[in-house]
Amino acid sequence: MRTALGIIGYPLNVTFSPAWFARKFADEGLDHWTYEVFPLTDISALPALLAERSDLLGLNVTIPYKKEVIPYLDELDPVATRIGAVNTIRIMEDGQLIGYNTDGPAFLESLAAMLGPGWQGRALILGSGGAAQAVQDALVQLEIPFDVTSRQTSTDTLTYQMIQERGLGVYRLIINTTPMGMSPHLDEYPDIPFRELGPDYYLYDLIYTPEETHFLKEGRKQGATGQNGLEMLYLQAEKSWQIWTTK
Ligand code: NAP
Repeated sequence: MRTALGIIGYPLNVTFSPAWFARKFADEGLDHWTYEVFPLTDISALPALLAERSDLLGLNVTIPYKKEVIPYLDELDPVATRIGAVNTIRIMEDGQLIGYNTDGPAFLESLAAMLGPGWQGRALILGSGGAAQAVQDALVQLEIPFDVTSRQTSTDTLTYQMIQERGLGVYRLIINTTPMGMSPHLDEYPDIPFRELGPDYYLYDLIYTPEETHFLKEGRKQGATGQNGLEMLYLQAEKSWQIWTTK
């Protein structure tokens, strides 16, 4: 039975996943299981890693390979296909590689818990990178309409200047998917009109270090409900574990 798991990415300064899985193995009494860190300078090194390590049951995938890994896989789960990125690979007995995305479902579960049943409103997503794709997919599943704010000007997105000029309008849920406010850029924050926020607004920040960004702090000061990215982080790890151990 294969009992090795790990994470690929580059550079890999991860501390969360190895610690989380070490705790998981201890809780489940799986003393011989391992979760290892595999820094790959190029994704083309993946086949050699897999050939060398026939004990691998699965891998997490992080920056910068969530998209680049797709051509190396044999099959993609529908959620990963929709999002266009993979953060979890299941290695089957016959060596087939199946790609999944647990970021989107993790965000969906966490957001649905924050909003509660029956919430209705329009969302504003800040940023248009990889994490924003997972957020967009979750909002589509939850049937929450949304717009995207980007530093780039395009016909599909709003600029921060437009939001400042027009105000928050119908948006009651604002989701930060940018790295603004993430350690070590602690004093950066998205340029939105914080003064308009109030108790019927929800702010979700995907950042988890620090636990409270300037974005969340300002929102909470105005009475808005705020949630950081820690719950999503735990949920995506739990969902990866379920994929490796129950499918
Ligand atoms: P990314 O691709 O590097 O950045 C996301 C987007 O943010 C960019 O595409 C860009 O969008 C905008 N952006 C980047 N730098 C900016 C700056 N200096 N000022 C304003 N906007 C900026 O990162 P990502 O992989 O999507 O991750 C984004 C954040 O989500 C990170 O903080 C990451 O740690 C977090 N995350 C958390 C979880 C979790 O489980 N909680 C999971 C995944 C990611 P525009 O070009 O459109 O402006």
